[in-house]
Amino acid sequence: MTTSSGEPGGVTDAEWSAAVEAVRGLTPGPEGDEVQLICHVNPDGDALGSMLGFALGLRRLGFTRLRATFPGRFELPLPYQDLPGLDLLVPQDEAFTEPALVLTFDVAGESRLGDLQSLLAAPCVIVLDHHGSNTRFGRLNLVDPAAAATSVVVDGLLGRLGVPLDQEIAECLYVALATDTGSFKFDLTTPAVHELAARLIATGIRPGDISRRIFDTRPFGAVKLAGEVLGRASLDPTAAGGLGMVWTYATLADLARFEQRPYVLDTLIDPVRSVAEADVAVLVKQAAENEWGVSLRSKGAVDVSKVAVALGGGGHRLAAGFTGHGTPGEVVAQVRALLEQHLI
Ligand code: 5GP
Ligand code: MN
Repeated sequence: MTTSSGEPGGVTDAEWSAAVEAVRGLTPGPEGDEVQLICHVNPDGDALGSMLGFALGLRRLGFTRLRATFPGRFELPLPYQDLPGLDLLVPQDEAFTEPALVLTFDVAGESRLGDLQSLLAAPCVIVLDHHGSNTRFGRLNLVDPAAAATSVVVDGLLGRLGVPLDQEIAECLYVALATDTGSFKFDLTTPAVHELAARLIATGIRPGDISRRIFDTRPFGAVKLAGEVLGRASLDPTAAGGLGMVWTYATLADLARFEQRPYVLDTLIDPVRSVAEADVAVLVKQAAENEWGVSLRSKGAVDVSKVAVALGGGGHRLAAGFTGHGTPGEVVAQVRALLEQHLI
């Protein structure tokens, strides 16, 4: 079996060919087929960048009946408000109702599609993703767990469709790649990742400007809020069989006090997981009265995706998440118990 990454479990030649045929079999143009692109709820840089980069690629192929969307509240984090291709983005209730093709980006399972799951009834659904926990809910599934970002899979499909990288597509894919590799810091930052980054930068995009925008720009209130949330972190050195766990939480009241939107919490797990005394880091973010979005991170000794999957979520070995219920302490106690049960 030949795979995109050379690793077992990647995308086969037959899967690539089937996806290329599915796209090539459609009619582009103003009277042509409708194509709906979807990324996951609370979209991050990889979800948005991969989706918009591919949408722009389809536009280069002559498709005009294109819409991109994501489930839930129609609100973009500040860092992504300048992405190319945003003119294709619509709120979920303006998605096509009967598209000929649906493509999903960075969506590990149906539940991450929220109200848009009904679109999975489309004649053809292509899933582009890199989560090991992907449930392969498409008719065609381009899922490569060895890929550092979904944008690596997008680049693979664009290349096979004969779409050259231009600056707009490159900026989208660079944002996606830089986001999911943590600025090229994580383990999956392979030679192939840097080769892709080189091809993207060669189009003339400015990595310094992009990085400043996506990593180093936040409202003043978000910095103050971070101070409070980090100030209440707890270190539990005996958790995870003595490997240690550090955790903290943020409530809707915290967000309201600093007049911030929930997305500002998405990167707060990074300073939490920098704690040397803990292999596992947990950030519990209130989403509703009794509902919490939980981010899990590991430095390497623990597979946190197993904990997340056991609690109804998913993700990767070193970065995963799930939706929890109860108080933050109760949610963390569930995580702690699963870590002790050697689900690691
Ligand atoms: P984050 O903590 O940055 O939100 O997410 C880390 C990783 O876990 C991402 O790869 C994300 O896709 C995955 N993840 C986070 N929350 C959930 C969830 O509720 N369900 C699933 N299936 N995956 C999640
Ligand atoms: Mn991703």
